[in-house]
Amino acid sequence: MLSVKEAQEKVLSSANRRILKKVPILSSLSLILAQDVVSNDDIPMYDNSAVDGYAVRAEDVKGADRGYPVRLKLFKKDIPAGSVSDFRIELGHCVSIMTGAPIPSGCDCVVMKEDTEVENGEVLVYREVSAGENIRYRGEDIKKGDIVLPKGKKIYPADIGVMASIGVSEVLVYYPPTVGIITTGSELIEVSEKLEVGKVRDSNSYSLASQIKEINVPYVRFGIVMDEKKVIKNKILEALAMCDILLLTGGVSVGEYDYVKEILDEIGANLIFWRVNQKPGKPLAFWTFKNKSTSKRKLESLKSESKLEGSDSKLETDEKFIFGLPGNPVSVMVCFEMYVRPLVSKIMGYERLFRNSVVAQALHDFKHKEGRTEFVRVAVEKRDKQYFFKSTGMQGSGILTSMSRANGIAVFPENVGDVREGCEAEVYLIRDEI
Ligand code: AMP
Ligand code: MG
Repeated sequence: MLSVKEAQEKVLSSANRRILKKVPILSSLSLILAQDVVSNDDIPMYDNSAVDGYAVRAEDVKGADRGYPVRLKLFKKDIPAGSVSDFRIELGHCVSIMTGAPIPSGCDCVVMKEDTEVENGEVLVYREVSAGENIRYRGEDIKKGDIVLPKGKKIYPADIGVMASIGVSEVLVYYPPTVGIITTGSELIEVSEKLEVGKVRDSNSYSLASQIKEINVPYVRFGIVMDEKKVIKNKILEALAMCDILLLTGGVSVGEYDYVKEILDEIGANLIFWRVNQKPGKPLAFWTFKNKSTSKRKLESLKSESKLEGSDSKLETDEKFIFGLPGNPVSVMVCFEMYVRPLVSKIMGYERLFRNSVVAQALHDFKHKEGRTEFVRVAVEKRDKQYFFKSTGMQGSGILTSMSRANGIAVFPENVGDVREGCEAEVYLIRDEI
């Protein structure tokens, strides 16, 4: 059986694909740039005032201060932002200027309004300013031809502002893959339905959809599918036509009704691995798939039904990825964190594929069977500079509330036994707050 590391490597080494897409800059937030962004303009494009005040010549206001103000004649026109001045300011004169307005010829600095007073058509200047003061020079921020944002950079709000300022309205990015979710199991019912003996509400498609949403990736929920081979197969084909990554939950163990493996084999998916030496999530399976057989018409009709949330459909014929996640609600979420999220991050061009992790000390003894990796739901806290962790409760793979209380997943490796109080372990931080 594969170790966690081997399985993660197999998943990540399968993903050499990027999805290139030109998007409006407002849709590029948090994505990775797939091109250098170059400016065709100097920014600012002209010398302009950084303040509201009076444009003057430095030599005219030399020595000015509160006790000995300099008197300048006020030029009759103002220069509001957005206007162009075609006049020249002579010695001993000044002109009222607004923030952002072009500096008129003849002036070499600007006195702030707060340092002046107007008296009988004259301006009293109470403070000396030197040449260049309060002027924003042409090209001081960005020069024409500059690479303003390099390929590979993650896009933040200021970057979107920069692109707007240089007239870039669309940009090439690594676009997120669309992720499909199918939950299988004849025992499953919808959230709104009443529980009966033998029935279980489908929580997996909700927790998975939310994990996908957390990384701003578009997803499609294909709903619950009964354990009937034909139904599952059709749903899988439908989903593969629309999505880049398909997540199936349930039906990948050795149960009699576990058809998923059989179906994927039939449709020609390439099984990369099945089973990982881990708890929870042992019966995890991973396939790659080339979508050759689906006809273009079928793709178009699915596209027009538009089941996508958060993105328009991308119909790719490239390689797709399929995860057969175990049905148990915690296994599903842990496998998402350890395998799906890193894969998605790699496709999106991110450098960091895994959650941040810290080394933390156990606050109590934990039982752990040597020989397999265990992912344990824990509460992590930081005291001074040291992190500590304790269990959030029962660790059965169906106990979702201990996942809901957890802000970390501790990793107990294969080569250790019980983890004693005070022992250290790596803990992935799965919440933002820590
Ligand atoms: P399976 O992998 O199909 O054998 O399912 C393992 C366990 O997970 C069973 O107890 C299922 O009832 C449960 N389970 C499967 N799918 C879901 C789901 N979508 N939501 C909640 N529990 C599920
Ligand atoms: Mg099942």
